[in-house]
Amino acid sequence: MDTILVVNAGSSSVKFQIFAFDGGGRPERQIKGQVDGIGSRPRLRAANVKGDKLVDRDFPADSVRDVPAALHVAGDWLREEQRITPLAVGHRVVHGGPDYDRPVVLDHGVVARLERYASLAPLHQPHNLAPIRSLMTNLPNLPQVACFDTAFHRAHGALADHYAIPRRLHEEGVRRYGFHGLSYEYIANALPGTAPEIANGRVIVAHLGNGASMCAMKAGKSVESTMGFTALDGLVMGTRPGQLDPGVVLYLMAERGMSASSAQHFLYRECGLKGLSGVSNDMRELEASADPNAAFAIDYFTYRIGLNAGMLTAALQGLDAFVFTAGIGENSSSIRARIAERLAWLGIALDPVENGRHASRISSAGSRVPVYVVPTDEELMIAQHTVALIWKHQPGQKRESAS
Ligand code: ADP
Repeated sequence: MDTILVVNAGSSSVKFQIFAFDGGGRPERQIKGQVDGIGSRPRLRAANVKGDKLVDRDFPADSVRDVPAALHVAGDWLREEQRITPLAVGHRVVHGGPDYDRPVVLDHGVVARLERYASLAPLHQPHNLAPIRSLMTNLPNLPQVACFDTAFHRAHGALADHYAIPRRLHEEGVRRYGFHGLSYEYIANALPGTAPEIANGRVIVAHLGNGASMCAMKAGKSVESTMGFTALDGLVMGTRPGQLDPGVVLYLMAERGMSASSAQHFLYRECGLKGLSGVSNDMRELEASADPNAAFAIDYFTYRIGLNAGMLTAALQGLDAFVFTAGIGENSSSIRARIAERLAWLGIALDPVENGRHASRISSAGSRVPVYVVPTDEELMIAQHTVALIWKHQPGQKRESAS
């Protein structure tokens, strides 16, 4: 069976997955792994779909100095020890800029264009693109596909896409893009199967993980998002503040002497649940903590989700269903219950038993708005796009394998 490699590259780690596929069938996950500690304590770990460990190996720091080297380590292991040579690679790329509203087959021209968007996502885009460039040089015939976190939101209307700033900045790319698009697209595709009665309706999807956002969907299409120009806006996150008066940033720079880069570090790494609680960015630790500041951070998290749900309901002009997904949304019945309490005014009520057992539909029979838990799968989305695009562009051609 043929395989493809799915890559999600960050600043200090590269996550990878192998999917097998057969003709036009749905790709099947085979291996999940990552190389983390890049440049410090590199470590390769991987497991099969059952969770059985396949490898756990340390490397000297100077042998894995950057993201391309980390992907090389993973590729060598796949080829030499697993006998896997993928036919194509699908990459998660955070920013597709104003242009890309769908995945794209990569060539030098596309990569050059995507590099121009690095200033829109400086913490992510360069790391996403580095392994693409390196594979292009080393294996020029290996098909590669980029799947964007912004693409699913590109059909937003002009009102949702603009900030109230001079238009020339909009033209330059200062827009409300929205992120977590691969997750929302997966949910939109899953709804006709798991909850057909709501798939064509007005749905809020809450992606609550370390990063968190909500998407207002109408008939499976994104019409509004809590995130905007960067992944800083909207909901409170593990270490990001969510919505913040820009005056706070001006204050930090003018009165506290922060440089742009230290303000960036502060806003991405020191705020959110971590900054507010002083305990942790991790929801499990906050829920287990007896510290009143941890309790306050959880209260604040659910309060802001309630406020933003009101905003998205206004964008949708009503609400037919609410969906929870990602780490917190899929696993924490108590957070879901607290959010539902805040949304009681919308006619939302949970069934405590169904919520407690993480059922697919967790609302009570009398809830005016049904509530669902739908586990997301961004990597499967990337795998599906990659297979579809590669076969569209190169049907039947001999392809070079990744290694
Ligand atoms: P990422 O954005 O890094 O992909 P995830 O979607 O994996 O994040 O979500 C991570 C978050 O989910 C963490 O805050 C973690 O504490 C939380 N989480 C995972 N399982 C549970 C659980 N059982 N109860 C509460 N929170 C959980």
